[in-house]
Amino acid sequence: MERPVRVRFAPSPTGPLHIGGVRTALYNYLFARQHGGTMILRIEDTDSQRFVPGAEEYILESLKWCGIEIDEGVGVGGPHAPYRQSERREIYLKYALQLVEAGWAYYAFDSAEELDALRKEAESRGEAFAYNYRVREKLATSLALPAEEVKARIDRGDQWVIRFKMPVDEVVKMDDLIRGHVEVNTSTLDDKVLYKSADALPTYHLANIVDDHLMEVSHVIRGEEWLPSLPLHYLLYKAFGWSDTQPAFAHLPLLLKPTGGGKLSKRDGDKMGFPVFPLFWKSPATGETARGYREDGYLPEAFINMLALLGWNPGTEQELFSMQELIDSFSLERVSKSGARFQPDKAKWFNAQYMHRMSDAELAALYQPILREHGIEVPDEPAGRAAGIMKERATLATDLWDLTSFFFVAPTEYEEKQTRKYWKGDNPAILRELREVLAAIDDFSLENTERIVHGWIEEKGCGMGQVMNTLRLALVGAGKGPGMYDVTSFIGKDETLRRIDRILETLPPAE
Ligand code: GLU
Repeated sequence: MERPVRVRFAPSPTGPLHIGGVRTALYNYLFARQHGGTMILRIEDTDSQRFVPGAEEYILESLKWCGIEIDEGVGVGGPHAPYRQSERREIYLKYALQLVEAGWAYYAFDSAEELDALRKEAESRGEAFAYNYRVREKLATSLALPAEEVKARIDRGDQWVIRFKMPVDEVVKMDDLIRGHVEVNTSTLDDKVLYKSADALPTYHLANIVDDHLMEVSHVIRGEEWLPSLPLHYLLYKAFGWSDTQPAFAHLPLLLKPTGGGKLSKRDGDKMGFPVFPLFWKSPATGETARGYREDGYLPEAFINMLALLGWNPGTEQELFSMQELIDSFSLERVSKSGARFQPDKAKWFNAQYMHRMSDAELAALYQPILREHGIEVPDEPAGRAAGIMKERATLATDLWDLTSFFFVAPTEYEEKQTRKYWKGDNPAILRELREVLAAIDDFSLENTERIVHGWIEEKGCGMGQVMNTLRLALVGAGKGPGMYDVTSFIGKDETLRRIDRILETLPPAE
């Protein structure tokens, strides 16, 4: 019988969630939804030294913003609660001891200083120290010390760790859904710590395997950086006697720098001006901040679409995918083995595509908070209409204010270059005449105003551009903006006349 699909996103709350982590969560989510499975969120917080307050909240908020729904786990609950590993601490010791009992693990009593000395000593010989089969029987371990001494040390409260006893010269044969078959000789691997008495907590490796087993996880989909841990994880399943129900593994390719070489980092984002985190983050310890896609004006749908295609391709030309379309078309087989280069311009392109397709009502919802920040209180209809007129020129939501502010506030200054160009010759006098033409129009709709003004310009025989650009200077204060009748019909007759009067009063008569 096919196992029910149960996947988990298992971040460690050590800081803001990197967009690579968001992509991991997304692929898990798509896979779960496609198979009618369950998406679990487990918080792996057993490394107390790296714990960062606020990081868990940040993870939850990021997933929510992205539309990645959690079925079971932190913030939701479920049959295997609790889902925060620090709250499951009693569970793990039993399993660590079970491995010691079975000869798959052992106690080690080395202090941090002793380990440091061993490391230094190896370095002086130009080697890297590895805690492995070569040294474990010579150091202070339960493999070397008499049983009574081991017991005495534990009883008197000496600190100990439990290490995995990596087999010697065996080949671990592994299968990865993305990378295929992989083999590793165990002699190249060291004896990882599984449990520490100092804080009575397991390490990542033990907690991760025990929890995946207990939570009946069917597929582990995670970043490539965990591939080197896979042999150990395979052996842990074997040591526990759980190989039969071991999850399938899929290791996702790295997100690479825009220039190609190496993993995408915050530094790359800072240097090139793009975020590597979904949301704005402020470090509680240092006060250091990092920008986020949300605050930079990206739409979650566009952000998700862009991320989905970094490492996966649908095998067709299609680039725009809704979440449901991603769920329908995603497959691990089409995830590439090699790293995916992050392209900041492509991220913007996706956002622009989504902005251009938004209805005025959707734009209103997006734009209203920005308008309010600028002290503009207007109903949704004009907010959405203004954004709708200019959306084709917007890349990010944050562009909207610059593109449309003149709909809501009259210019108080006139751009120098445009003024020099158009506030000269007959133009001010023509504008004065145009004011009277406009004042006489009753139906100020776009079409009617356009018809009357065009007729008047033709009759007068002056240049269309000349008149329109002078009007633009009066209404917008600059050389930007949509067609002039979009502006006049939006702001209305009174405001149009007010703005013309104002420029005529403010700017000195042209020479
Ligand atoms: N806690 C690990 C991380 O932060 C989880 C790795 C895994 O999914 O096994 O990425």
